[in-house]
Amino acid sequence: MFENLSERLSGVFDKLTKQGALSDDDVKTALREVRVALLEADVSLPVARDFIKAVQEKATGQAVTKSITPGQQVVKIVHDELQHVLTGDADPGALKIDNPPAPILMVGLQGSGKTTTTAKLAKRLKEREGKRVLMASLDTNRPAAMEQLAILGGQIGVDTLPIVPGEDPVQIARRAKTQAGLGGYDVYMLDTAGRLHIDQELIAQAAAVRDVANPRETLLVVDGLTGQDAVNVAQEFDDKIGVTGVVLTRMDGDGRGGAALSMRAITGKPIRFVGLGEKMDAIETFEPERIAGRILG
Ligand code: GDP
Repeated sequence: MFENLSERLSGVFDKLTKQGALSDDDVKTALREVRVALLEADVSLPVARDFIKAVQEKATGQAVTKSITPGQQVVKIVHDELQHVLTGDADPGALKIDNPPAPILMVGLQGSGKTTTTAKLAKRLKEREGKRVLMASLDTNRPAAMEQLAILGGQIGVDTLPIVPGEDPVQIARRAKTQAGLGGYDVYMLDTAGRLHIDQELIAQAAAVRDVANPRETLLVVDGLTGQDAVNVAQEFDDKIGVTGVVLTRMDGDGRGGAALSMRAITGKPIRFVGLGEKMDAIETFEPERIAGRILG
């Protein structure tokens, strides 16, 4: 998911580590190249700027340039700073699902991968934590989306709330809550309607559902391929509805990965999971240590 960035950085670092002695100017030149690589990966400008500034402060001066392996020192500082930028919760994959039935609200734009992610997470909760999960589609505008969730539920062996034509999203959310309580479910997941753009109606609907369900987690699903747009969408959803975390999908594609690096720094919200394909197992928790490692090759 970070192939291009990773390649660019390893080029810069190879030069640095081969060089032996380093001057502050050498470090500055290298960091300028790192900055360009970050921007090309679609990391937002303020985030890239702060990143370079932090590294520069730590990597110039006697301690580094006069050390025995200055190049490696600089690489380590970049690594630590990457991890710092990415750091979210200690355990991003741990969903708050105590007090059953725990509601999880899934929000996001149409096509972001929301329904797929809902099913992937339900499968994960079922298989890894032995939870009984109920999924409900609230997308009353698109019967096909409701059907899609039911089909995925059938595939992964997770129950879905029966579809009752004519109900509005708030009514469905209420019915899901009642059903989850009566049926002894640990978790119920509400897959809200998506739209192509954030508009008043989308926000009003998600907010109304939120108020009825009082979710333990509100997860925003965004398409990782959309780069900085993903970060803007996250910011707006968080301002208007409040989210507890982000799921970045399509990180299996050849996107530039910058959204992942800017997300936490700009929105203050952690990336909790990344989607890595269409299959129901193609989801992973977002672990800063591992991601930083992957970027640095
Ligand atoms: P929704 O409109 O937000 O509910 O989006 P869907 O869940 O219907 O997903 C739209 C398309 O994206 C489907 O074809 C999914 O299989 C695909 N998709 C979802 N997540 C991922 C992912 O992480 N990687 C890839 N490659 N495709 C994904």
